[in-house]
Amino acid sequence: MPEQWIFLNGEFVTKDNAKISVYDHGFLYGDGVFEGIRVYSGNIFRMKEHMDRLYRSAKSIMLNIPYIQEEFTDLVVKTVERNRHESAYIRIVVSRGVGDLGLDPNNCRGANVVIIVEPLAIFPKHLYETGLEIVTVATRRNRPDVLSPKVKSLNYLNNILVKIEARLANVNEALMLNDQGYVAEGSADNVFIIKDGVFYTPPGYIGALEGITRNAVIDIAREQGYEVKEEPFTRHDVYTADEVFLTGTAAEVIAVVKVDGRPIGNGVPGSYTKHLLEKFRERVVAEGVKVISQAAPHVS
Ligand code: PMP
Repeated sequence: MPEQWIFLNGEFVTKDNAKISVYDHGFLYGDGVFEGIRVYSGNIFRMKEHMDRLYRSAKSIMLNIPYIQEEFTDLVVKTVERNRHESAYIRIVVSRGVGDLGLDPNNCRGANVVIIVEPLAIFPKHLYETGLEIVTVATRRNRPDVLSPKVKSLNYLNNILVKIEARLANVNEALMLNDQGYVAEGSADNVFIIKDGVFYTPPGYIGALEGITRNAVIDIAREQGYEVKEEPFTRHDVYTADEVFLTGTAAEVIAVVKVDGRPIGNGVPGSYTKHLLEKFRERVVAEGVKVISQAAPHVS
């Protein structure tokens, strides 16, 4: 295997040498922000949108990223080039940095900055053909007025509890509702339902992350002439939808064929979802910032 290079605070180090202090406040308190971005056929997909969201998240929690956005974007590109994966997932982490055991971020000596690039598949490949079975769980999405889901912070316990409930139900993913019982999102993905040819996804105020794949899918669906509505919906609407699918940088676009034991539509991925997935796949290789121009010698 070729060496994997990780960007850590200004230098490239090997995976074994990518180490951070146990006094880092990201480790002690989940105090930091992160992003996940995809590289498709050497193109970084919607990089500006992801970097914008990273800087918005950091601003919201008063975390100073020690690079201006253009410099940081350049570092992400360099990390992708260095690792030469044509298709991969990029993880950016900026934590509050090393402090003491108290909470006070003023005692931290400056952010720790990490960029990791590696192949990633969060769901088994065959599920992209057959569709996913999911459940809804008791864990509610944290309220936007408590800890805003719009901040992509290192505090992912809410989402991890959802994943635990999904695994206990022997499925790969689950939907959480907001505090009022409206469907919010999956553990790390946004949700769409389709009814009578119209696409629906929860609006921002329901309390979900503003997914960049979600926004890309809305653009693609509208270009294809479909109507897309950002409207709240309930579990009943999910159960009785013609089609359901999830979107996310890691999940990409994946059909859902069963929810809480109810088959969706005919219990197989529907034609709108399949069409959208095809267009999405075309789009991700056509759009984006080209960083690797020829086939890498050791793609995985
Ligand atoms: N919701 C949550 C909670 C997530 O972690 C993610 C993954 N970033 C998403 C939705 C999907 O967002 P995106 O399409 O920007 O990856």
